[in-house]
Amino acid sequence: MTGIGLGMPSLPADRVTPVLAPRRPTRQLMVGSVGVGSDHPVSVQSMCTTKTADVNATLQQIAELTASGCQIVRVAVPDTDDAEALPAIARKSQIPVIADIHFQPRYVFAAIDAGCAAVRVNPGNIRKFDDQVGEIARRASAAGIPIRIGVNAGSLDKRLLAKYGKATPEALVESALWECSLFEEHDFRDIKISVKHNDPVVMVRAYELLAEQCDYPLHLGVTEAGPAFQGTIKSAVAFGALLSKGIGDTIRVSLSAPPVEEVKVGLQILESLNLRPRGLEIVSCPSCGRAQVDVYKLADQVTAGLEGLDVPLRVAVMGCVVNGPGEAREADLGVASGNGKGQIFVKGEVIRTVPESQIVETLIDEAMKLADALRDAGTPSGAPSVSLV
Ligand code: SF4
Repeated sequence: MTGIGLGMPSLPADRVTPVLAPRRPTRQLMVGSVGVGSDHPVSVQSMCTTKTADVNATLQQIAELTASGCQIVRVAVPDTDDAEALPAIARKSQIPVIADIHFQPRYVFAAIDAGCAAVRVNPGNIRKFDDQVGEIARRASAAGIPIRIGVNAGSLDKRLLAKYGKATPEALVESALWECSLFEEHDFRDIKISVKHNDPVVMVRAYELLAEQCDYPLHLGVTEAGPAFQGTIKSAVAFGALLSKGIGDTIRVSLSAPPVEEVKVGLQILESLNLRPRGLEIVSCPSCGRAQVDVYKLADQVTAGLEGLDVPLRVAVMGCVVNGPGEAREADLGVASGNGKGQIFVKGEVIRTVPESQIVETLIDEAMKLADALRDAGTPSGAPSVSLV
């Protein structure tokens, strides 16, 4: 098993973790400072919910997204006012800004002139788009910015709806590849593609077909995934099915919830698949009839006490002695509880036994010491690394 860095600082050998599959080889492109494609870590995107024309509100939301770990942000451009706001937003945003264009090809040119890092177009929603592809390709190429061809089930090209009857995986893929071919005629291949559907099964199949038929980087998304709980599960299932086969180069979780929540979910999906180094990870048992402490409360208190810790640390919070000592020993730090006491483990060794009332503060104390030691040792935080299996 070989660990390879992906353009980021290398992790120490004991922190290199296995992944389920090597990335599907793709063309590479740059969205501003963020590389997208198989040579780069899978990136996390979100989309502003503010009116783009409200520059201050949009920049404020972009700042919040940046702080949460978002790497690329998209803004909607439905009106002239929004297009006019793009230069200020592109200039002041800390992360690359993608302009999302439907219906109006002239906004594509405005976004390119505004200095946006990329433009997303939806072939099904841009009238007379095909006539303008040559000019879009020429201008985007001159500015060095990529185009995302973003096909959505809800706005599939009418010709393909008529041919397939509904937004099947084949219809989504044909729409995307048809649009790509128009750009290719003008020698423009700085393209990434999305084929989104609200049904994870259709979506997964569409991306699998697409991955077989082109080498463009793919932007994964389950569109209109729903409120936070449902959308998180749909996205995790669909992204997991694709990313576990190496398919997917940048992701956007779509939730009917504040966009920062989308970023948190996206990051967690990547961490779960070892496509990003794990940060703080709480390994806590579900509790059962054998529990001798309130595991939920303990896990919540430890999680709250360690919130914001920026080093990779696995902390086990276990309710009894059945699996407790084993899990606690495997973690960087852990507690196995029982009989009103907690055995505290650090790096596999029991360092002390404390009364139940002192479990939380002892764990937090020891976690801070481990975090300081990791920082002193120069362990990179947030540095993606992938191992080939
Ligand atoms: S660790 Fe103990 S309390 Fe927790 S689920 Fe397992 S058996 Fe139950």
